Amino acid sequence: MNLSARLRLVGGDLLDLLFPRVCLGCGDLLESKESCLYVCDGCIGQIRWLQFPCCLKCGQPFHGELVGVRECPNCVHLKPSFHRGRVAFLLHGIGQSLVHHLKYRGVVGVLKDLPHLLLQAPDYLSFFEDAVLVPVPLHTYRLRKRGYNQAALIAGTLAEFVQGASYADLLVRTRSTSTQTALPKEKRLKNVKNAFATKPESVMDETLRYVVIDDVITTGATLESCCRVLRKAGASRVDVAALGRG
Ligand SMILES: [Zn+2]
Repeated sequence: MNLSARLRLVGGDLLDLLFPRVCLGCGDLLESKESCLYVCDGCIGQIRWLQFPCCLKCGQPFHGELVGVRECPNCVHLKPSFHRGRVAFLLHGIGQSLVHHLKYRGVVGVLKDLPHLLLQAPDYLSFFEDAVLVPVPLHTYRLRKRGYNQAALIAGTLAEFVQGASYADLLVRTRSTSTQTALPKEKRLKNVKNAFATKPESVMDETLRYVVIDDVITTGATLESCCRVLRKAGASRVDVAALGRG
């Protein structure tokens, strides 16, 4: 993490004084009257929210007339063991910029805007009601390098403001895997197979609904791998969610 990212982690407000904030979408200087810290009101309207109709498993949007289609071809092929999946927005324009700044540039303050931004996606928010939110873990090596786990920060933020939701850091990554983005679809599940485990102290409650959270979903392989571990440990209902859809 570079110096500016570290400063943002320990004291974003101080940095704001030195370097005025600009909208991550259009680059305009943000004034205090704007509703968000990192996105101007104009750009909030540009976010491409994912709405129904979409794949019930991975949130992939469907276009045109639909009769009886509930899962996308990828999910039909993957046969995920999770029950449902939801995604907030497409990784496009401002949505992509938000995730990129959170994940690679250390601007974790963008999560302060999440409660306001997600007012635009009530269906997405209600998905987390009364659920236990479990972040996809980072390997210790990558966690040390980045300084934080973006999935854990997203899950923690959602758990703070969604009614009845709670946060539980139940999983560990047992081996470092090569990045999924460089791999073709067929190899992704194999790449993350047996890469996760529950922490020794994690105990599943089969009366609860768990939602595994990641920053981005593409084929769903990482989330599926985490889901299998939770199911094996005794969780009866596991869903998945991500902020962005790649
Ligand atoms: Zn799908």
